[in-house]
Amino acid sequence: MNDGRAERLTKLPKYLFVEIDRKKDQAIADGRDVIDFGVGDPDGPTPDFIIDRMAAAIRDPANHQYSSSRGMPELRKAFADFFQRRYAVTLDPDAQVLVLLGAKEGIAHLGTAVLDPGDIALIPQPGYPVYASGAIFADAHCHTMPLRPDNDWLPKLEEIPPAIRQTASLMWLNYPNNPTAAVAPRSFFDQAVAVAKEHDILIAQDAAYNELFFDDPPPSILEVSGAGDVAIEFHSLSKTFNMTGWRIGFAVGQPQALAALADVKSNIDSGAFAAVQHAGITALDGFERAEVRGQRGIYRARRDILVEGLRNAGWSVDPPAATIYLWAECPAGVGSMDLATRLLDEADVVVIPGSGFGPTGEGYVRFALTVPEERTREAVERIAKLGW
Ligand SMILES: *Cc1c(COP(=O)(O)O)cnc(C)c1O
Repeated sequence: MNDGRAERLTKLPKYLFVEIDRKKDQAIADGRDVIDFGVGDPDGPTPDFIIDRMAAAIRDPANHQYSSSRGMPELRKAFADFFQRRYAVTLDPDAQVLVLLGAKEGIAHLGTAVLDPGDIALIPQPGYPVYASGAIFADAHCHTMPLRPDNDWLPKLEEIPPAIRQTASLMWLNYPNNPTAAVAPRSFFDQAVAVAKEHDILIAQDAAYNELFFDDPPPSILEVSGAGDVAIEFHSLSKTFNMTGWRIGFAVGQPQALAALADVKSNIDSGAFAAVQHAGITALDGFERAEVRGQRGIYRARRDILVEGLRNAGWSVDPPAATIYLWAECPAGVGSMDLATRLLDEADVVVIPGSGFGPTGEGYVRFALTVPEERTREAVERIAKLGW
């Protein structure tokens, strides 16, 4: 113990944006006109048809009590129905669908459910820090799988050292990817499932951005035949329906892993607010509504302004096919922290330096597409004036 804190907390991923955050707060306090591409939190409101359902559900006393920690049967069925329509994959709502208090909650608790102390978890880098946190909470070891542009930001599974591959218990994947915006083809999931079967590894694929696409809809790993024996997949209403604050997500797939996760959860939470679960059913049933689909058009328009503007400014960027991010190579060999600092100091524009997602993120910065078109246009004009 040090200072009353558990030793394992010292192993958690470090928060590296302290200095950028401080500068941003100072710039705002100084009255500067800051344009913030930092936070990956949709700026639009939750659609009215979902709010209306919530407003009615909150007045029903039946929704005021503890709900089941696995999620209401009606919501699990609604997600299975959605999954059938979207992916043509059949899920058993009882054994293969678990409701979460947001995908992050399940991601953080999965390690406790399936890892013993000293087990090995394979963690992609650059990546969402919570995969490592969950393994650290279970006193497991993290083995990094580097993602690189020369392999389209997919891990090279054949490069995992044999001794690690043979002993690893869990492999995290995240496609469409945060921060790189890469989409995995079905063939990659085929390969990952084969490796998992051969070496008895559980795959946990984070599909939080699967419904925010600009080209072909990204696949589910559960489309791969036999994947339901070795893989679970995390889904979320947060990004798809502008519901980040509502805290509703899902884990689906391999029943044993979901049962273990449900056991952990039943000792921690007592279920999502039933009114939110009713609103979640309404959201899923309304997935094809114009105001939900329209969200993709909003991000696409911002993406196109940003890509064109940065290209005109001399940056080399490719338009992402999914997610709410643009992962942009730093121009002129500038380091990502230096670039982010310069954009903030000289253009009042906030981006996230790639190095904050791990060393293999160096050389890139992440723009979140959560800034309205006019302000995005203003930002690229300011960036162009800096010259590179
Ligand atoms: C936003 C995000 C999540 C968390 O989603 P919630 O359902 O809001 O907890 C999970 N994974 C990634 C990669 C994310 O960016």
